[in-house]
Parts: sequence; structure tokens; C-alpha cells
Amino acid sequence: MHVEQGIRTNRIIIAIDGPAASGKSTTARKVARMLGYTYIDTGAMYRSVTLKAIRRNVIDDLRRSPESVVALLEDITIRFDGDHVYLDGTDVTEAIRDNRVSREVSFISSLKPVRDRLRQMQQELGKLRGVVMDGRDIGTIVFPDAELKIFLVADARERAERRYAELKAKSNGASGLPGIEELEEEIKERDRADAEREHAPLRKHPDATEIDTSDLSVEQQVRKVYELALALLKEDR
Ligand code: C5P
Repeated sequence: MHVEQGIRTNRIIIAIDGPAASGKSTTARKVARMLGYTYIDTGAMYRSVTLKAIRRNVIDDLRRSPESVVALLEDITIRFDGDHVYLDGTDVTEAIRDNRVSREVSFISSLKPVRDRLRQMQQELGKLRGVVMDGRDIGTIVFPDAELKIFLVADARERAERRYAELKAKSNGASGLPGIEELEEEIKERDRADAEREHAPLRKHPDATEIDTSDLSVEQQVRKVYELALALLKEDR
């Protein structure tokens, strides 16, 4: 890939962290598109490792002996192609959104070998800069030198309603959707586990700009982040 020198030096890293369903991926994807940057969904990476553990039927074994997770990581490959995620060469874009994955992902992502391995992959993916990366520890641990750090928050009920609307739109009228209360409980439980874990817990970096998206439209939240990025890019010229 040919990258002009002047443009490369001006490319920044944008780290977007926050609790589940706070609007990170929607915002990150759109801001990346507007800037011509690469979007990296690190949640999809933790979900992929979790899916691998589920498919190998080793979740219970891992609860008993978490150190055996290294076997799962040995030859793992996770690749992004546009909006698609490939785990060991197979498209898992849909499969990683499964409820079972959502229920187990906080456990898998609390394991140190998993975090070490994925952090290394994420730092490699971001080394050319010009990326918007979203997750829980991007501004604090993965790229503490990211020029722009955003921490998105939103009311738990509002987040559950958004998740419900998303699932409903995807379900094409199929039955068996979880209710809003159930989604709210799952979201709160995941936030608790992510914030209380020992390694790389969900935290706002002191330099991060906090944006509460509860009463913002997608366009408004995207614009806020985009304008902060533009201001930095202009400063840098
Ligand atoms: O972003 P998403 O909700 O898909 O993330 C799924 C889970 O992956 C989170 O609840 C968290 O346990 C884990 N995760 C993480 N660190 C990141 C991104 C996601 O621990 N940087």
C-alpha cells in the first residue's frame, strides 16, 4: 500500500472505550469511514476467542483450569475484511453475536493470556496509525498514547432498548427474542464483570473525553467525535 509521507505523519489513533452497547462500534465505524481510517472492533476479537472455546467445548475446563487457555491461543488467527471477521479462516461475523458468546465473553476476556495475546495483535494492527479502535481498554492499555481518547457512556435502560431494537431488526420477525429487562440485566452484569476484573478493567483514562449518548442521535455522537478528531488533525498540520 502506498502512503504519502505527509499524510502518514498526520494520521492519529482514536481510542473509543465504554460499557456494553454505549454506541462505540456505530460511532467508531462511521468516524473511521469519514476520515478514511481503519476501524478495528476489539470486542469482536474477544468474542472470536470465546467462540473458539465454545466450539471446542472447553468453557467448563477453562473455569477449572484457566491456564489451559494457552492451547486455544496457540495457532489462532483473527482477520478483519471490511465488516467481516474471520476466525482461523472462517467467517464468524454472525456467530460471534450469538447470546451464548455474549454470556461467556467476559469470563474469557478476564484471562491474562487472552488479554496479552489480543493486545499484541491490536498494537500490531494499529502500528501504521490511522485507526479507530473500540473496546474497553484501548485508551488505558492498548494505546495509552492515542491522540484522541473517548469514553462513551449511556443509561443502562437506554442501552438495553437499543440492543433490543437491533436484535429485532435482525430477527426478521422470528420469535424467541430476549426481553428488554433481560437484556438490561445482561448488560449490567457484563459491565460489572468488565469493570471489576483484575487485568485491564474497563476504566476511563483521565485524558479521555466522556460523552453521554443517552439523549444523542447517532449523527450527533458521530459529529462530536469527528469534530474532536478534526481539531487535532488541524493542530498537527
Ligand atoms: O464490544 P463488545 O460488547 O462486543 O465486547 C464484548 C466483550 O469483550 C466485553 O464485554 C468485554 O468482556 C470484552 N472486551 C474486552 N476488552 C476490549 C473489548 C472487549 O475485555 N478491548
